[in-house]
Amino acid sequence: MVILIGFFGCLIGSFLNVVIYRTPLKRSIVSPPSACMDCGLRIKGYDNIPVLSWLILRGKCRGCKAAISMRYPVVELSTGIVFGIVFWKFHGSANSLILAFLYLAAVSIALALIDLDTHTLPNRIVIPSYFVGAILLGTTALMNGNYPSILRALAGMCVLGLFYFALALIYPGGMGMGDVKFAGVLGLFLGYLGWDVLLVGAFSAFVLGGLFALALIVFRRANRTSGIPFGPWMLTGAWVGVFFSTSIVQQYFTIFGLNYRV
Ligand SMILES: [Zn+2]
Repeated sequence: MVILIGFFGCLIGSFLNVVIYRTPLKRSIVSPPSACMDCGLRIKGYDNIPVLSWLILRGKCRGCKAAISMRYPVVELSTGIVFGIVFWKFHGSANSLILAFLYLAAVSIALALIDLDTHTLPNRIVIPSYFVGAILLGTTALMNGNYPSILRALAGMCVLGLFYFALALIYPGGMGMGDVKFAGVLGLFLGYLGWDVLLVGAFSAFVLGGLFALALIVFRRANRTSGIPFGPWMLTGAWVGVFFSTSIVQQYFTIFGLNYRV
């Protein structure tokens, strides 16, 4: 099943490549169909198999032999692997919960690359994520009769959103409104899983982003005024929270000689 979900992830990755390229240009993600950017040749179904087609064509367009960026198969394969891991983590949970976090994984990959490319987190992806999250997480809570989770999700959404909003006001150069809007989405998803997940997820973003910025300054690849997009760190931090919050919180309590039980 993990393999099957992984293969499905590669197909989604292929779609994410379109989303990553077209969303910042405000172009439709459904039409026109994908074509070579050099000669305009339509990409046929048999040349659109994730990862494999790129390998068979050896990274070149079938028509004009223009190079096709290695990023396409990398995104496809990564999405497949990430989908497999997320499914493995959530299997046994309600299907709607699995779907919610597969959705968040797909959005994470798309937004991380769009933010690196364009320093924006487009509303066209961020705003619908509130609705997708609310519907899938709400459905899960209703089915399990787990009402505290959905209340915590809504509280998490407000807390993280307001926290980033405050940061954006205090330090306008550091955070954009895109970050603020996306923080609400992450608060919703992480809050659903638990306060510890939300806390570790939010905190990790600053630790990882801070270490990275420090490394850049130390190695003189950036100075303190260089704009480094924060979206990828928000996302990475969030997933650290999803996967490792329990062990991180346990470690933390162990240091102080306390017992921690979930
Ligand atoms: Zn071509």
